[in-house]
Order: sequence, then C-alpha cells, then structure tokens
Amino acid sequence: MQTSKPRVLAEPFKIKMVEPLKVTTEAYRTEVLNKAHFNPFLLRADDVFIDLLTDSGTGAMSDRQWAGIMMGDESYAGAKSWEHLEAVVKDLTGMPYILPTHQGRAAERILYGILGGRGKVFISNTHFDTTRANIEFTGAMAIDVMPAEANDPELFLPFKGNIDLEKVEALIREKGRENIAAIIITVTNNSAGGQPVSMENVKALRKICDAQGLLLVIDGCRIAENSYFVKHREQGYEHKTYKEIAQEMLRLGDAFIMSAKKDGLVNIGGLLTLIDEALSLKCKNLLIISEGFTTYGGLAGRDMEALSIGLTEVFDADYLNYRIRSTAYLGEGLRSKGVPVVWPIGGHAVYIDAHKLYPNIPLEEYPGQVLVCDLYTKGGIRCVEVGSVMLGKQDEAGKLIPAANELVRLAIPRRVYTQSHIDYVLEVFDDILELRTQARGYKITYEPPFLRHFTARFDKIGEITTETQRA
Ligand SMILES: *Cc1c(COP(=O)(O)O)cnc(C)c1O
Repeated sequence: MQTSKPRVLAEPFKIKMVEPLKVTTEAYRTEVLNKAHFNPFLLRADDVFIDLLTDSGTGAMSDRQWAGIMMGDESYAGAKSWEHLEAVVKDLTGMPYILPTHQGRAAERILYGILGGRGKVFISNTHFDTTRANIEFTGAMAIDVMPAEANDPELFLPFKGNIDLEKVEALIREKGRENIAAIIITVTNNSAGGQPVSMENVKALRKICDAQGLLLVIDGCRIAENSYFVKHREQGYEHKTYKEIAQEMLRLGDAFIMSAKKDGLVNIGGLLTLIDEALSLKCKNLLIISEGFTTYGGLAGRDMEALSIGLTEVFDADYLNYRIRSTAYLGEGLRSKGVPVVWPIGGHAVYIDAHKLYPNIPLEEYPGQVLVCDLYTKGGIRCVEVGSVMLGKQDEAGKLIPAANELVRLAIPRRVYTQSHIDYVLEVFDDILELRTQARGYKITYEPPFLRHFTARFDKIGEITTETQRA
C-alpha cells in the first residue's frame, strides 16, 4: 500500500484462526528453565510465549494454502498436485528437471552425495551447517570464502552476503579445477546473518564457472527475501518485480536447492532442480531409493499443493515489504535502545552481539547463553546462541577456544507474530539492559560429542547448585 507519509507497519493480512499462547509468570519460567538445565532447546514449546528459535518450518500458511491442503491429490504417481508444483517451480527456475524432497537437507544429501567424495572441494560464500555436514559426510571439503570486510559486524554493506570472487579464483587455482565439485552460492547468506547476495556477484560467479567448466548451485531457500534487497539496493532492478528478479538469478545457476520451510511458506518440504539431464537421472535414482517416487519425493500431495501456492504468495510485494521491514523494525528498535546488533539487519533474523552486551562476562562463561536464558526468564522469549556454545572448540587441555563471535539470533517466523508481539520483545530488552551488570555466566555440566548446543546442560555460575532444586 502506497501512502504519502510513513505509517505504522500494519500486517498485510488479518487473522482467521488463532492459536492461544500460554501467559506465564517469571517465577514459573525460572523454574522450568532450571528444570531444562538452562538450555531453551530442552523447554516445552508450550512454555514459550514468543518463539524466535528459527524461521524454518515455523511460518503460518494462508487460507488459500489451507484450501490447497484439502485439494491435495494423493495419487502415488503423476498427481495433479505434482503437476501444479512442477509448473510453478519450472516457471521460477527455468530448469527442466524438478525433484521434490522432504526437506532441503535431503536435496543436499542427494546432490552432494553424487558430486562429493574424498579429494573433492566445494566452495561457497558460507555453507549452511547441513550443507557442510552433507558435504563432509562424503569425505569432501567445504570451504567458505567471504570478503574480509563482511566480518565487521558494524560495517554497512548493501550485499554483505556476497562471495569473494578473487578468493574463489585463487582457490580453484590452488586446489585444481578438476577437484572442485561445485560452487554453491547461498542466498540470502543464512549463516552470515541472512545478508543478501547481489545479482552482479552471482553473474560474475557464473562467468567464472563458465570459464572453468564448473557447476554453480544456488542454495536459495530465501530467494524471495534476497530479491527484495536486490530491488531496493542494486541499480537496474528498481522496476523489476520480485519474481522477475528471482527468475533472473535462478537462471544463472546449474542447480537450485531449496528448503521449502523458508520462502516456500510451508511447514515441511524441499526441492532440487537441475538443468543437466544425466545428473538429474542420477539424482532421481537416489530420490527413489531414499525419498520416494519422482512425482512426490518425500512429500504428500497436500504438501506439494500448499508449496505451489506458497511459492506464488511469497513474491507478493505487500508480503515481502512487510516481511523485510518487520525484521528491520525489531533490529532498528534494538539498535536505538543501545543493544549491539549486527548491522545491517538481514532478511530473516536479528543478531545480537552478546559479548558487547555483557562485557563483564568472560567468554568461558558464555555471554550468549546468558542472554538466551534471560530473554526466556524475563519475557518467555526463546532464541538461540550462535557463539561459543554452538561453535566453540577445545584445546588439548580442555580449555575453550572461543567462536569468532558471541551472537544470539532472534529469527522471525513468517506471518506469525504481529507488531505488538515485536514491541513486547523490545520492551523485554529494557529489563535486559537494566539488569545487565548483575548478569552471571554459565558453566557446562554435560555435553554430547557433536552439536552440543542442542542437548548441553548448564549451571549458573555463583549460584548454589540447582541439582537439589531439580530433584
Ligand atoms: C534451512 C537451510 C537448509 C536445510 O534445509 P532443511 O529443510 O532444514 O533440511 C539448507 N540451506 C540453507 C541456506 C538453509 O537455510
């Protein structure tokens, strides 16, 4: 909606069905967080008021998508819902071979399982964690090449998610082009704060791939959000529609992988699309063995119907404007209160620098975990630490080698919370700021050998052991 003067960001939808949220007290939350060993992953979702843990599969579907669910064709082969999905995805990507999967990581396992293997190298702006895991599982190596300046959390760059083209070329020379399995461009760059990638960057990457005969994969589960930034920040795209921008970018790739749980606007689903017929046949073989027949992959007919509608709705200008501006609203609101946020704000999440927020808490006492726990106790808000709990390592003496940054991510589910929920989150931060000098760190009392952040247990440092209270 165009208005002459800026107005409050009113959601471009109204609510037809409600899911009640449980309102809890601080005393209750203190008790349940204690029982969850100060790890919000171990909380019951029912005890969470505002859940900003992830934007993956947590979005709300529209009335049309729900109507589509009822129209799902559950035929094993050649279902109408498959035809709908295939047509929408062909139109979007321009690619002839469309493989449906149950999630993004299934598409990754199939494609990288074929391209990978010992001695192979993948190069990306940043490999998302399941991407890296699927590549390394084959014995191949995954190397991230971000421009150095993109690591400065306060520097404004319009396309902070870009890949470093010079480093890509240097790596190809160093590793030998015959050893490069593929180049993967992740748009938006999830692990780097949801920062966008410019069309210019992908075009230049295409040229490198053409010159070297390399495969270019677009990991584009947030391709619509990325298109918003291209339209508003890159010259020459002001007059294109968001869909046209996405179509142009996807036509630069040889393959497209999508976790439909993001810009597919559905709760489950994934896609793998390809241009090369021979590669598509190999992928289809693996698809049939592990996901399902080629016209449904890992999805029910109703899932494909909802996805084909979601992939259309996500490019709606009012939706995307609301989506990106509402994420920015939270980020800018925090920044104006003096909360140190990673700048500029990306598409799907706001990242807070917990080390700067709690300068008095040593890295060994996990400042990110302090913020995550305090947000829950003070406001029932759940989010995730992306710092030394998640990414830290240990030296031989068992001493922490901290992560590069101590961040906390507030991810915004699509079409779920209203501006008043976000205003509430901003208010909770007033308490966090007021109490920050009294905050105390944590120690880990249990951790598994891999991906410890999901199940680690903590105790608050300087408090009587909580084991007795838990018993
Ligand atoms: C979420 C995500 C994936 C993995 O998709 P799942 O549907 O969670 O399996 C891959 N790449 C990126 C960039 C993602 O954000």
